[in-house]
Amino acid sequence: MKFYIHTFGCQMNVCDSLWIAAALRQKGYTQVMSEKEADVILINTCSVRQKPEQKVYSMLGRIEPYLKNNPNLIVGVGGCVAQQVKETFWEKFPFVRLIFGTDGVRSVPDSIVRLSENPDLKISLLDFLDYYPEREIIIDRTLTKQQAGAYVNIMQGCDNFCAYCIVPFTRGRQKSRKTENILNECKKFAEAGIKEITLLGQNVNSFGKDKYGDGVSFPQLIRKVSKIEGIRRIRFTTSHPKDISDELIALFGELENLCPAIHLPLQSGSNTILAKMGRKYTIEDYLQIVEKLRKVRDDIVITTDLIVGFPTETEEDFLETLKRVKEIEFDSSFSFKYSDRPGTKATKMEPKIPDEIKSERLKRLQNLQDKLTHKSLNKLKGKVVEVLVEGKSAKQGKDNQISLKGREGGGRVVNFLTKQTNNIHVGSLVKVKITEIKKHSLFGEVIL
Ligand code: SF4
Repeated sequence: MKFYIHTFGCQMNVCDSLWIAAALRQKGYTQVMSEKEADVILINTCSVRQKPEQKVYSMLGRIEPYLKNNPNLIVGVGGCVAQQVKETFWEKFPFVRLIFGTDGVRSVPDSIVRLSENPDLKISLLDFLDYYPEREIIIDRTLTKQQAGAYVNIMQGCDNFCAYCIVPFTRGRQKSRKTENILNECKKFAEAGIKEITLLGQNVNSFGKDKYGDGVSFPQLIRKVSKIEGIRRIRFTTSHPKDISDELIALFGELENLCPAIHLPLQSGSNTILAKMGRKYTIEDYLQIVEKLRKVRDDIVITTDLIVGFPTETEEDFLETLKRVKEIEFDSSFSFKYSDRPGTKATKMEPKIPDEIKSERLKRLQNLQDKLTHKSLNKLKGKVVEVLVEGKSAKQGKDNQISLKGREGGGRVVNFLTKQTNNIHVGSLVKVKITEIKKHSLFGEVIL
């Protein structure tokens, strides 16, 4: 049996898809890179904005005709859209035979086996569990040779209920994972040669602060991971500014293997809008955090998320966002137009901002960010950075050279050429001198 997985959305979805793929391969299934070749098609979905949700529906529309040639095709839909639409999904797409939420991920591989044995069966795995759903740790040694880093979930869900966000509804309330299990997974990855661990959670700073916590805080967890032999780099995402502690900030100056990079969603530069969003911090609080971070590590890469056109956002509110983005000089940012998400508080907030205004604001914001990103990348020109090699780059190498890519400590992509004889491979840590700045990446040459 051949399977194909398409993943929309965040790194947590990517992490879930990687696990499902590893578990299916362990059961003897073969992963294919085209949905047309597959006997099992799984779509791991995201409903955090309207656009990815619509993409899921159009993908399903494209898949349905495949059933004519392959009536036994198993189609499964998981993640946030499945959790949001629930069983009514079957009314719209009766050919879908498996729907699963985030707590149902661990049962997906066995469910696929059951579905293939019984063509009349449909399975729904949408229930939220009252505990963190541990799953088998699967280390696929063939794959770990092809990857430099691994994702490790430390929690599930979120308790914050920001006014625009659907996550607490689709991923449930916050459930921290047991420290021992997290460390065990990190150790197994390290033993398999993985050098970089990214700790994942919707709000990692509040790790351990729910009823499932075992007394270990997020900074304490990072310290423990940093001591694991072979782990050369630690990253984490996502951080909520209201929960970031001085202890966590101090770690950036203390732990050699904690990468100097933090993704800290600001969402808006206007205090009026931040209050309406229910973010529970002010722009002044945020600026203070940035100041502390840069005091500890002046080279720290700070990235963010921004929403434009939140209900009631005036031009003045938006100008506040532009002003703050300029002042903070984010190294890069993800910015989006606000869209109503079912069941969230913001859907009831009026007035809504017309789409043309949202588009125009987004363009102004992204133009500004492009300049800031260029400025940030430019600081690296001529410098030597350490790159963890992730694979071949799209660029073609000449003669006996190969073109590789990886990331420097701050998380920026670095492409470089090297001789085949240099024996640099996925997982190598190499020194690269940056010679050229591209729009969102860097180019350089290896220093041996
Ligand atoms: S912190 Fe807010 S934006 Fe982030 S997942 Fe939770 S509710 Fe959504």
